[in-house]
Amino acid sequence: MKKMWGTFLLLTIIILFTGCSSAPLNLEIAKDDVMNYYDSGKYDAELDNVVKHAESEFNSIQPGDSTVVIFDVDETILSSYDFEKDLDFGYVMPLWDKYILEAKEPAIKQTKSLCDFLVKKGFKIIFLTGRKNDQYNATYKNLFNDGFTKFDTLIVRQPPEFDYTALKYKSLQRTELTNRGYKIVGTVGDQYSDLDGPYHGIQVKIPNYLYIIK
Ligand SMILES: [Mg+2]
Repeated sequence: MKKMWGTFLLLTIIILFTGCSSAPLNLEIAKDDVMNYYDSGKYDAELDNVVKHAESEFNSIQPGDSTVVIFDVDETILSSYDFEKDLDFGYVMPLWDKYILEAKEPAIKQTKSLCDFLVKKGFKIIFLTGRKNDQYNATYKNLFNDGFTKFDTLIVRQPPEFDYTALKYKSLQRTELTNRGYKIVGTVGDQYSDLDGPYHGIQVKIPNYLYIIK
């Protein structure tokens, strides 16, 4: 009898455990967790560590005339966290497009600091973003107004590239830059699709708990 109770208890635990593990997190709880992470300083602390580690890695490289580090823009250099929080983390394309054209996105202070560090050491900076060609001027203005005044190039998607995945688009752009003579020694981005593919150099993954781009 004792053995039967033991078996019953074990089965109950397995069923409960299996049931719990397959249930998704309630969306409100997930949003609260994300907001708490960003607003409590934990996101900043994680980012401090990422940038500190990146600086030590880049310190081992002596830049030449064409040595370049590629930076993504959204959630790597510019933060849309406050904007997305105001929208309760929903994605509404017309509102997002309007927000980009306002060119008032704040810089992420840690990656701004990394960028400044690299410029001072003699690395070229190229911004490679999935934003489209009609957003070029606003993006350039936003970056410039946030203090990014010494970058080499800003690359945005052209019409033939609109349907490419981020991974394909960024891989092709890095290949093209390499063919033109740039030596890419590092890539900084909040998405793995920013970092994977050829010619990435040192990969610096910036934390992003708001969305995933494949
Ligand atoms: Mg991004």
